[in-house]
Amino acid sequence: MTGERLMEIYRLLFERFGPQHWWPGQTRFEIIVGAILTQNTNWTNVEKAISNLKAANLMAPHKLHALEVAELARLIRPAGYFNIKARRLKNFLHWLFENHAGLLEDLEQVDTRSLREELLSVKGIGRETADAVLLYAFDREVFVVDAYTARVAVRHGLVDLDAGYEQLQELFESNLPPDARLFNEYHALLVRVGKEFCRPQARCSGCPLERLPHDFQPSDL
Ligand code: SF4
Repeated sequence: MTGERLMEIYRLLFERFGPQHWWPGQTRFEIIVGAILTQNTNWTNVEKAISNLKAANLMAPHKLHALEVAELARLIRPAGYFNIKARRLKNFLHWLFENHAGLLEDLEQVDTRSLREELLSVKGIGRETADAVLLYAFDREVFVVDAYTARVAVRHGLVDLDAGYEQLQELFESNLPPDARLFNEYHALLVRVGKEFCRPQARCSGCPLERLPHDFQPSDL
């Protein structure tokens, strides 16, 4: 039943919005850099930071690893919180070089659970970022949870208001076919409906999910 409802939500969102073409990024490394930079900012700002790195011909693990953190911060300034994010990128690179010889290909051999734990051990990489890296850079069957996911799931009675990250992730992972492409598209569609309709003040009128049972309260999500 829950699985059917989740697939119905997916179908309705996809029919309305179509493919979202996530995650933007030409290489696996660029996707990872984007996942770290997008914390607490919008994608347009991340794109400017990524453009700066590419224009400086620095979009490669060994090049950013060798770069001074202050220079990295200067280049990613458009992404906001640039000093913090420069250190996060450096933390990731330090971990990659210490544990995997700087080779992203090395990570392909690591099972998903272990890789998630390793990523979470990097200071500044939280669950959403780790899961975005797993799903978008490594095609792992991991559902990415964020505030949009929580809002739609709570308002449609799929979880309680106090559901945490793991519970929300479990909702999708245990009720949907384990398919990285489905998880990818589903998350992007939830972000889309969350931005356009399921905002803190829900705009249910005209929303693709309007005909499904829902309660737009509470409004503090
Ligand atoms: S805006 Fe309303 S109908 Fe749309 S997803 Fe949110 S609660 Fe559901």
